[in-house]
Amino acid sequence: MRIGIIGSGVAGSLLAEGLLGSPHHDVVVFERAAAGEHAEAGTGLNLGPNALKALRLHAPARHDALRAASLPWRRWLVELTDGTPLLDLDLLSVAEEPGVRIRWSELYRALRAPVAHMTRHGRALEALEEDAAGRLVPVFRAPFGALIREGGFDLLIGGDGRYSRLRALTAGEPVPEHLGLCIWRLLVTEADDCPFDDYGQWFRGSNRLLAFRVPGNAVYIAGTFRLGGDVPIPEEARTAAHQRALFTPEGAAPSPAVSWMLGRIEADLGGIHWARTQEAPMLRHAAGGRALFLGDAAQAMVPTLGQGATQAIEDGTIAAAILRAGGDAAAVAAWRDPRVDFARRLSLAASDTILGTDPVEGTLEKGRAPFLAELHRLYTEVPGPEELALPARVAAA
Ligand SMILES: Cc1cc2nc3c(=O)[nH]c(=O)nc-3n(C[C@H](O)[C@H](O)[C@H](O)COP(=O)(O)OP(=O)(O)OC[C@H]3O[C@@H](n4cnc5c(N)ncnc54)[C@H](O)[C@@H]3O)c2cc1C
Repeated sequence: MRIGIIGSGVAGSLLAEGLLGSPHHDVVVFERAAAGEHAEAGTGLNLGPNALKALRLHAPARHDALRAASLPWRRWLVELTDGTPLLDLDLLSVAEEPGVRIRWSELYRALRAPVAHMTRHGRALEALEEDAAGRLVPVFRAPFGALIREGGFDLLIGGDGRYSRLRALTAGEPVPEHLGLCIWRLLVTEADDCPFDDYGQWFRGSNRLLAFRVPGNAVYIAGTFRLGGDVPIPEEARTAAHQRALFTPEGAAPSPAVSWMLGRIEADLGGIHWARTQEAPMLRHAAGGRALFLGDAAQAMVPTLGQGATQAIEDGTIAAAILRAGGDAAAVAAWRDPRVDFARRLSLAASDTILGTDPVEGTLEKGRAPFLAELHRLYTEVPGPEELALPARVAAA
């Protein structure tokens, strides 16, 4: 079977690695970025313990490479911006191993390395045609402007992210749902004087700072605040004074952690990447099963629990195991859709405190048994290769 993977991001790279050496699959990866170009991703991210479990079970060499390139994510601390403590969760109380804190560039570097030899760079999917055998023929735009055809494929995989061209070409542009939230992110380098290490969140009303250290003496900071509807981010919100006002507690001094972040926001304002939070409806396959979507192309979700790239890791590793076992796009959907639906619903439910629920009550709720049981399910319910063998897959379907 000839498989073309569009995009060597998180899901696409892992799928390609998982199919390496398969006698039944002839795989090529097409990536619009140039070889060695990982910088566009910027900033940092946290990957949930379930991503590490998927790698441990399906791609142990990648598990070790990510651990080596990252810091462990063991703790989830929540405070008000004046330092009032609300939650201090030990992740090992709900997971089998810690998650990771990593820089985007290092994540891409670690995942792309094993499939570099099968990746054609400078190929941006632009159009689709069909050959006489009814196979999809992707048409790529090369950096010098020419259109390139690379032949027909039995299966095309959309690993091309949130604005998937493959999904748009086969199923139409998805209509995103805006949550009326601005989310900005900043990578602070040379952060010797940063007073915190592991993952923390700091609330003033529904305005939230989220931050943690990543390797290379750097700190990732993300700020979230409500926009009051599906509107563009106002220019005046992009100033240091506005951001300081959003996160400064009323009638009290900011905690040392918040005070440090406010100083760095002011100093590095130009380095902030501004965005609005949105979700896209889930879609696993199209074109009669000849196009299969993984990661954000299938399921762009709110970033609240750090599950976007985490689910892309589950997608890439698990889809590889299913295809190797002889499964098809429908089999991948049967395994992945209920799981992703659960992760999306939990991520949305956990967004209550940035959407207007009282942050004190909403956070205390996250330390109670019902939410902890959901987190345990999220972090541990990852099937191993033996469960994904065909008979089990048929049973799941
Ligand atoms: C503000 C913010 C914070 C986030 N924080 C986290 C976090 O902490 N933890 C977490 O797990 N997730 C986080 N996410 C989500 C995460 O970024 C995505 O879910 C993840 O990158 C999806 O992986 P993917 O493999 O689907 O796509 P990507 O990693 O986006 O890869 C897509 C690849 O396709 C290539 N490509 C795109 N178009 C084409 C084309 N036409 N032709 C060829 N190649 C193409 C791109 O160059 C890229 O290599 C965050 C997202 C946002 C917006």
